[in-house]
Amino acid sequence: MMDAAREWLIEANDVMRIYGDGEEIRALSGVDLRIKHGELIAIMGPSGSGKSTLLNILGTLDKPTRGSVFIGGQDVSKIKNKAAFRANTVGFIFQLHNLLPTLTALENLEVPMAGRLAASESRARAEDLLELVGLSDRRDHLPNQLSGGQRQRVAVARALANKPPLVLADEPTGNLDSAAGQDLMELIRELNLSQGVTFIIVTHDLAVARETSRILVMEDGKFVREDVVGSPFEEDLKVWAHTELGQRILSSAEGKLEGFDVTDGQLKEIRSLLTQADELA
Ligand code: ADP
Ligand code: MG
Repeated sequence: MMDAAREWLIEANDVMRIYGDGEEIRALSGVDLRIKHGELIAIMGPSGSGKSTLLNILGTLDKPTRGSVFIGGQDVSKIKNKAAFRANTVGFIFQLHNLLPTLTALENLEVPMAGRLAASESRARAEDLLELVGLSDRRDHLPNQLSGGQRQRVAVARALANKPPLVLADEPTGNLDSAAGQDLMELIRELNLSQGVTFIIVTHDLAVARETSRILVMEDGKFVREDVVGSPFEEDLKVWAHTELGQRILSSAEGKLEGFDVTDGQLKEIRSLLTQADELA
């Protein structure tokens, strides 16, 4: 497993999760997954396709019925003290921020460090984390004195408290308006780069997913598709390549395209861009 340890942060092989013993529900039916250190990934898919079940298994909150999961090269099923492993390895962000309502922003950040660091150290780390997410001026606010977007920023900071290599986020923008959702994704992108943390983000929102570098699509308990996210321009071209006009341009012979007023040179350029985009799609 040395290679796995070096190359993959997460390696899941043929993971199944079956609920119930009477009428069985196959929440996951053969998931294979490889994720490298430092990746930023989105998981999309219809409701009930198994996204949350998979996150719970990757976060060692749940066990697969069959199949194996390695995190940092370690076979998760062989870990004795799961709670300690989890505290060091995985941060979680949920749709609802799950902050403790009677604690301030700063105190909420100290919670995961309690008993792990001396009080003065955890206070200092909590202050650093607040600064990292741009909320130093809200340190003494209670969750209900913060906006939805600010609460989620605190939740992101809390996920990073123990410096885990991996953060799992289950619809973190689900309760935010689209502007706050985009802000949160910008923060997550920054942290992914500056802290080298791997983020896996389950989302229904294509605009959110496009802020990541890979979109994995689940259906009926398995991955059915993977998209590499290009620049917005490439993304638009991919879509355009499949429009009627795009298809006409792609299939037209060199020369001019009837009813389309461009020079031969322009047409050639458009065709070459579309051909590239079409190959990516
Ligand atoms: P998603 O997050 O993609 O909406 P889930 O992972 O929550 O999907 O659920 C996948 C399937 O497993 C669904 O059919 C769901 O009803 C079922 N399921 C999830 N959790 C449980 C559970 N604790 N007991 C029984 N069935 C469950
Ligand atoms: Mg879910």
